Amino acid sequence: MNAAIPRPSRFIDAGGTPRIRVSFEFFPPKTAEMEQTLWEAINRLAPLRPNFVSVTYGAGGSTRERTHATVKRILAETILVPAAHLTCVGAACAEVDGVIHNYCTAGVRHIVALRGDPLGGIGERYAPHPGGYRNAADLVAGIKRIADVEVSVSAYPERHPDSPTVEADIDMLKAKVDAGASRAITQFFFENDLYFRYLDRVRACGIEVPIVPGILPVQNFKQTKSFAARCGTSVPDWLAERFDGLENDAATRKLIAAAVAAEQVIDLVDRGVTDFHFYTMNRADLVYAVCHLLGLRPCQDGGDLSLPAREELGHLNPKPGPDAGELPRPAGERVGVRGLGR
Ligand SMILES: Cc1cc2nc3c(=O)[nH]c(=O)nc-3n(C[C@H](O)[C@H](O)[C@H](O)COP(=O)(O)OP(=O)(O)OC[C@H]3O[C@@H](n4cnc5c(N)ncnc54)[C@H](O)[C@@H]3O)c2cc1C
Repeated sequence: MNAAIPRPSRFIDAGGTPRIRVSFEFFPPKTAEMEQTLWEAINRLAPLRPNFVSVTYGAGGSTRERTHATVKRILAETILVPAAHLTCVGAACAEVDGVIHNYCTAGVRHIVALRGDPLGGIGERYAPHPGGYRNAADLVAGIKRIADVEVSVSAYPERHPDSPTVEADIDMLKAKVDAGASRAITQFFFENDLYFRYLDRVRACGIEVPIVPGILPVQNFKQTKSFAARCGTSVPDWLAERFDGLENDAATRKLIAAAVAAEQVIDLVDRGVTDFHFYTMNRADLVYAVCHLLGLRPCQDGGDLSLPAREELGHLNPKPGPDAGELPRPAGERVGVRGLGR
């Protein structure tokens, strides 16, 4: 009898190299306790060697200093490649340019460029700052004028709530890519068919950059549902049913959340997706479990690499940016939109 032929792995190619690449999104902590939680998550996930880790920028620049401090600490204490988020809402171009210069001076080589939500919150009419970047495409062009950095942008498989049509959304994506963005990261979604339908339309418009699916493991169903409603993500009935009756059963909720996220990413892999961006909510456990299922294993050095390794990655030899001095103060600290820590 012939020995059974091993089934090829979905996650590792014939040469033993992982096919899957991941990135992780964190938000800057507000308190010492949150800082500790964040760093526990970073330290747990770092050995999985993500492609990059991104740090959000609070609504209207409300976390400017905290985003910067988190990114600087990632650069100083880990080998991770940080991508700093930046929005242009409520700020003059000079202010935003100051933040870009400061990121570059700190060693940042990747910016996630966003318009941001209106200052009155999601649902309000967006008005650009009179002396500011008009929209995300304008911001991408501004970043590219200032620095030779990688720029990622957002994408919305289910249409951004401000956008009258999917076509208008895709026109904006095209404008962002034409301005120099080299990757789009999607808003989270739960129905993979919606992502693939969107991808078809994006490709039909000649947009060739990777459209990386943003995956949100559901840590808290009620919160997720409320945030999804505000950002235009649909929550299917089957998802609600899976969490039904588990309000007071955190342990089972977590198992279900891991199963739901695993099912989603494995279906995406089976349909050809290799890159994933995880909204971690500064918690490692679910994301770590899903990455494990995707075949990722911690590297031996634990992600806490020595100086030479970081030099090899270019972290410590940033192209010098113009001296931008101190971080400009935010236009006004305001309560950020609650949700994905933005
Ligand atoms: C991966 C990702 C990361 C994010 N990170 C952050 C973050 O760190 N901080 C934060 O505050 N928010 C963040 N957001 C949320 C984002 O700021 C909001 O969704 C915001 O409302 C839109 O910004 P954008 O860059 O996605 O918009 P864009 O891509 O510029 O626009 C989205 C859509 O709205 C339409 N639109 C834009 N302006 C107008 C207008 N004036 N009138 C009518 N339609 C218009 C466009 O045509 C487009 O279809 C993130 C979103 C994603 C998907």
